[in-house]
This record gives sequence, structure tokens and C-alpha cells, in this order.
Amino acid sequence: MSNRTRRCGECGSKTVWQKLPLDFERKGIKVTISEVEAMVCPNCHEIYLSPEVAEKVHSNAEKLLLAAEASLATAPEIKQYLVTMP
Ligand SMILES: [Zn+2]
Repeated sequence: MSNRTRRCGECGSKTVWQKLPLDFERKGIKVTISEVEAMVCPNCHEIYLSPEVAEKVHSNAEKLLLAAEASLATAPEIKQYLVTMP
């Protein structure tokens, strides 16, 4: 985890690194990615991702949403998967 932080673009406070869950939703399907490294403003709670992390998180969330849509199409009775990786 980087030690560099930036100031909040909304209120100018110094942000702090945190790991937090990010949710992505499409057509009622929700994908949550746990423990995403982000800079969070302690004052107004704005969240800032580094460009590399944002890119990875968005492209992988897209893959997971596509997988979830495929699952829903073939097995609509299965409503939730929880995947934990080492
Ligand atoms: Zn702020």
C-alpha cells in the first residue's frame, strides 16, 4: 500500500488509505469487491482510487457482472455466489 495520499478534491482535507468494499450494480445484479485500496476523505467521505486500481476494479467487476448474467440466464434459482480468493 502506498504512503502517498492526495488532498480531497471536494473539501481539501488530507485523505487516508483504507480498504473498503465497492459495489457495482447492473440490471438488479450486484457485485461487491471487498477490500479495495482507496484514499478516503475523513471529512466528506469522498473515495479516490488510484488510476491503476480503478482500471482493474472496473474491468474485473465487468467480467463478474457478465458471469453473473450468464449464471442468471441458465440457473435463475441461484441468487447469490460468494467467492473468496486466497
Ligand atoms: Zn473531503
